[in-house]
Amino acid sequence: MSDEKLTPQKVDFSEWYNQIVQRAEMADYAPVRGCMVVRPYGWALWENIQLALDRRFKDTGHVNAAFPLLIPMSFLEKEKDHVEGFSPELAVVTIGGGEKLEEPLVVRPTSETIIGYMYSKWIKSYRDLPVLINQWGNVVRWELRTRLFLRTLEFYWQEGHTAHATEQEARAETMRMLDVYADFAINEGAVPVIKGVKSQAEKFAGANLSASIEAMMGDTRALQAGTSHFLAQNFAKAFNIQYLDENNTQQYVWTTSWGLSTRFIGAIIMTHGDDQGLILPPRLAPIQAVIIPIFKSVPETTAVMECVRRVEAELKAAGVRVKVDDRTEVTPGFKFNDWEMRGVPLRIEIGPKDIEKNTIALARRDKPGREGKSFVPQTQLAVKVADLLVEIQQALLERATSFRDSHIFEPRDYAELVEVVQNGWAYSYWCESPECETKVKEDTKATTRCLPLDQEEAPGKCIVCGKAAEHKVYFARAY
Ligand SMILES: [Zn+2]
Repeated sequence: MSDEKLTPQKVDFSEWYNQIVQRAEMADYAPVRGCMVVRPYGWALWENIQLALDRRFKDTGHVNAAFPLLIPMSFLEKEKDHVEGFSPELAVVTIGGGEKLEEPLVVRPTSETIIGYMYSKWIKSYRDLPVLINQWGNVVRWELRTRLFLRTLEFYWQEGHTAHATEQEARAETMRMLDVYADFAINEGAVPVIKGVKSQAEKFAGANLSASIEAMMGDTRALQAGTSHFLAQNFAKAFNIQYLDENNTQQYVWTTSWGLSTRFIGAIIMTHGDDQGLILPPRLAPIQAVIIPIFKSVPETTAVMECVRRVEAELKAAGVRVKVDDRTEVTPGFKFNDWEMRGVPLRIEIGPKDIEKNTIALARRDKPGREGKSFVPQTQLAVKVADLLVEIQQALLERATSFRDSHIFEPRDYAELVEVVQNGWAYSYWCESPECETKVKEDTKATTRCLPLDQEEAPGKCIVCGKAAEHKVYFARAY
């Protein structure tokens, strides 16, 4: 880590983001353009994301499995919209074991096709349904413009693939998993997301309906943080996934798919970070509290370190993810900056004065300076730290929510819409025609993000063309 200051967010948000990802040692650029190396600190955050999601998937009846990385090219071609959507992004293997392959293999961009193929073998009767499988893995999409975590050629994610007997069940599953994502984003990531349905232009290639959770980043741009798709019988028909129903009649299944990726790390960084660095939500932070010993002389060292180890043991026993920074080659001031950069939610300082007074100093990452600092007795420390972590988690969510809400506008006319999407989101009636959607995109670079689920049904007039519109939509520039 260098001592150089980060580029402030207001000066260049994008540069701030690139610097923070590297300096906090979250990820690095790989030798292949567009690929990323997730470094241990970034991966530890991803592991906590995985744990929080996986628990929710299992609680809703899903199981994990693993499907292969390589998919026959012909599989992709079976679903027309799917192949059209993904063709430009495919990485194709044509040589294997030194010989030209009879059929090229695609490095999976997503796994609907290979899983659909397997489901057609496994599903025979209504008794086999529903099938609720999730896979943790990596996929490759040959993106041209890439950014670490946000859009990379290869990324890590989970993809759920379910098959159901009825349309109603599959639609319910699509929305249930959207709820799971929203619950995770809000309560674990402290990222206040909006649940909604994508427009026809923005939906997943091969889906009848795509739903998403949309988050607002610190520069007010939108980020699609997770998606859930109702695939109807599109893949069931392409892969002949049929079952015998209770009346002994062959029926096609109804399928869904849903995914959340390492992109969510980008969402966390850009939702909470500031000019000093990352700010990680305590529930997902790899290190929740860092202890920094402060001493000048050798006798001080012994007493301080004894106290440090006692506090460390107490916090560990209470389940706090704690780390002692006992480096001797750098100053405490350097350590403060270093852990601020890495976004550790709570800093614990222990020095000779604290030993005398039987206190310690706690400094919150989300409230810099004196405001976030408190001196507390060493007794019952674990309880205090745990409470404070809950408080920080809550404060991050509140701050992000109020930032978001103060940057969502309801423009009176089109001219105002063009203006507000430069620094916020526009929430407006839209007639749902692709023409109006394209016009906004061409004029402002803002796209439709989602038609939120919880809107009141009061028809209005399209902000673009003035024709009758049933729903409101969010327009925003997006990552
Ligand atoms: Zn319109």
